[in-house]
This record gives sequence, C-alpha cells and structure tokens, in this order.
Amino acid sequence: MINPNELRQYHYCPRVIFYERCTPVHRQETRRMQYGREAHDTENALEKQRSLQRYGLHEGQREFNVVMHAPNLELLGTADLIVTVESETYPIEFKDSTRPPDLGHEMQLCAYGLLLEATRNTSSPRGYWHSTRTRETYAIEFDTKLRKRTKAAIADMSNFIKAERCPEPTPQVAKCFECELRNFCADVF
Ligand code: SF4
Repeated sequence: MINPNELRQYHYCPRVIFYERCTPVHRQETRRMQYGREAHDTENALEKQRSLQRYGLHEGQREFNVVMHAPNLELLGTADLIVTVESETYPIEFKDSTRPPDLGHEMQLCAYGLLLEATRNTSSPRGYWHSTRTRETYAIEFDTKLRKRTKAAIADMSNFIKAERCPEPTPQVAKCFECELRNFCADVF
C-alpha cells in the first residue's frame, strides 16, 4: 500500500521512497521537519474553531484525521481534514511552507480525493491546500491529467518497491546537496 504522503516524497525524489521502503536506511528528522510537524499539529487543533470561509464554503460537515483504505488503488492513508457538502467531499491539507503547492502536494491531495471516491458514496472534484505560514489557501482541481499522473506515480512506486529496484535519481541535482541521504547515492556524487 502507498501512503498519499509518499507521493510528495516521490515528487521530491523517487529514491527517498526506495530507501525508506526497501532498505534499513531512513531519513533523520531534521529540526526543520520537526518544526513543520509541530506546526501541522497546531494548525489541526486550531482548525476546529474556524469557519469554512477560507475554502469558499459556507457550510459543511467536517471530519478530522480520517483513515481510508482502498486496496484496488493500492492506497492507505489518513487525511488531515475532509469537508462534505451535499454529494461532494473535499480533502484539506495544511503545510508549514512559504511556497505555493507543487506537483507533489497536488498528487498527495488528489490521492485523498481518489480514496474518498473509492470508500464513500461521494465525488471529490477538488481539494484545498493551506499554508500555515502565509495563511493562503489554494484550491486544487482533481482534473483528468492530475488523476492520471497520481495513478501513474502510485503504479511506479508500487513496482519498484515490489521489485526492490532502486529508481533513477532526481534529475534536479541541486536537491541532492541538501538531502540527508546523499551519502547513499554514490552514483550522483
Ligand atoms: S541524494 Fe539526490 S538522488 Fe539521492 S535520495 Fe537524495 S535527492 Fe535523491
């Protein structure tokens, strides 16, 4: 099973997933990662007292920390927050970031949308990504292109994990200079 969080890491570099899943090597939690996790937990707690206006919604049923499992999609994960309005349900993610969401964040959110549609009698046409730093909220549409890219990334991860095959390194070598796993990528350096 693939966790939607892994789509974000996969977009950063597929090898991060390989090391986590197929080897005893694990990324150490940096101070920055720890701060991000703590900020995420704080935001989750505060969200319970807030209105839904930041998502352009006037009303809806909120559910926190929703565990979902869809074996046919090879997905298993826990959404921070979902909001249901009539026949539609939207996943919402909080991130401690000053940058707008990248493709990794979009695929992570889309995977929660796919999980919602697979496990509930609902449609999930979009999700929301909220920066706890800038307080900006982005609506991410789950269009056909994003759904295909998300499913393709899940299939690729699943294949190299099952085969225990190390994938190609990220083509963006600049990422490697600040990666905690660089000592294990001898072919890059
Ligand atoms: S050092 Fe580069 S190729 Fe290796 S895991 Fe880190 S980002 Fe990926």
